[in-house]
Amino acid sequence: MRSPTCIFCQIIEKQRPASVVYEDERYLAFMDIYPWRPGHVLIIPKVHHQRLRQLTPQWAQGLFALAHRISDGVRHGNPSCDDVHFLINDGNAANQTVPHIHLHIIPRRRGDLWRLALALCARPIVPLLPPRSRRVLDREAAEIQRHIPD
Ligand code: 5GP
Ligand code: ZN
Repeated sequence: MRSPTCIFCQIIEKQRPASVVYEDERYLAFMDIYPWRPGHVLIIPKVHHQRLRQLTPQWAQGLFALAHRISDGVRHGNPSCDDVHFLINDGNAANQTVPHIHLHIIPRRRGDLWRLALALCARPIVPLLPPRSRRVLDREAAEIQRHIPD
């Protein structure tokens, strides 16, 4: 179940590039190209649904179990990370911009609230800005991948 017009389905189908952190038959995790904070990862199920409620409990459990593991990679693969946000924007009014369920893992460092606030204020003009360089995203993905526990 894929949607040909969905950019995350295109990433699953390898029709669009991504800096992959983790992949199995059911889920894919990759770097956000417009990170709210450096090291920002997105985890998606490989089925096209917009809302979390549309996932079966088994798929939702798998998503959160994987999020635990990836968050360890994000914490330990990034010396600037003290803690993380787990975030799902569930629907348009909740600022979901890509209509394919995705769980954000956003690294936070003590005292960086103003940086996060600036990044949030810039969200409306993000499509006008250059994305983070693929070279940097690939390097960050490799570091996170190295720290994901089995
Ligand atoms: P949402 O606002 O829907 O919760 O989050 C969508 C996220 O996808 C945003 O943080 C945005 O930066 C990211 N994004 C948008 N287009 C692409 C893309 O082509 N590749 C990747 N890796 N991330 C994207
Ligand atoms: Zn999709």
